Amino acid sequence: MKIGFIGLGNMGAPMAANLARAGHAVTGFDMAEVGVEGVTMAASAAEAARGAAVVITMLPNGDILRRVAAEVIPAMDPGAVLLDCSTVDVESARDVAREAQAAGLSALDAPVSGGIGGAAGGTLTFMVGGDEAGFKIARELLDIMGQKAVHCGPSGNGQSAKICNNMILGATMIATCEAFALADKLGLAREAMFDVVSTSSGSSWSMNTYCPAPGIGPKSPADNGYTPGFAADLMLKDLRLSQQAAEAVDADTPMGRAACDLYAQFVEGEDGKGRDFSAMLPRFEKRGRG
Ligand code: NAD
Repeated sequence: MKIGFIGLGNMGAPMAANLARAGHAVTGFDMAEVGVEGVTMAASAAEAARGAAVVITMLPNGDILRRVAAEVIPAMDPGAVLLDCSTVDVESARDVAREAQAAGLSALDAPVSGGIGGAAGGTLTFMVGGDEAGFKIARELLDIMGQKAVHCGPSGNGQSAKICNNMILGATMIATCEAFALADKLGLAREAMFDVVSTSSGSSWSMNTYCPAPGIGPKSPADNGYTPGFAADLMLKDLRLSQQAAEAVDADTPMGRAACDLYAQFVEGEDGKGRDFSAMLPRFEKRGRG
């Protein structure tokens, strides 16, 4: 299949490389000068999109997605699919889909879970919003880049699933970190805390798979000096998107709001800059109740 791939950063580059390795003809474009194995680089987003059956975008935010979409939609052939894998606000996803459909294209919002490891290993989970016809065409590519793709309903529903998932993730990571810090002060060994909680009702992905305490549980960014993994500022971005969405539909999300405020303090202060989102644990270690 002829594929255009726009946004070849930490996530996009390995995803595009996997598609090229599987035998697809991938033409890429990025604002920054990048090279990706097996991918032919174009001089513009429109050039990468021209003649492609599917154009994939993997960009930082909704404003950039809107700008790129305005450039690529007129360059795409009718019937082609615009497949956005970025994490963006629900409104931008729906507006871009509407514009694409008006131009005779299929449009899917398909944000991912699994991080850079999942992107490199082809084991991402895709949560997909948009029309069934587009999903059928894109399925083959989603199955190369990931291990699971869930069609969540109409346009925007992929983004809705993503921000709900990450709101749970942000809150459980904070709860796990504060519980470790409390356990430390109560004199409970971290190994014992992990052994109990990871097989009890307090278990979660944050504890079991991505444990924020170094040297405990499976290998995680905590074992690498909290080098991201999933950066705290990306978690803050997703939590802000969740709160923006909650406000738009009048949903009460007090835990999500608290998580968003804590990550904002964390990223805007010195503790969280350039660090993994699990570096909340050293933040709690340093603090008492005051
Ligand atoms: P990144 O900053 O590494 O990559 C984004 C790329 O987009 C950059 O290479 C940048 O040069 C390019 N870009 C920016 N504006 C552009 C434009 N106008 N035209 C062409 N290229 C442009 O970010 P990333 O970590 O790859 O994340 C991409 C998306 O995936 C984000 O929406 C992020 O929230 C989401 N995401 C990231 C992770 C993660 O662990 N990194 C996990 C899940 C989802």
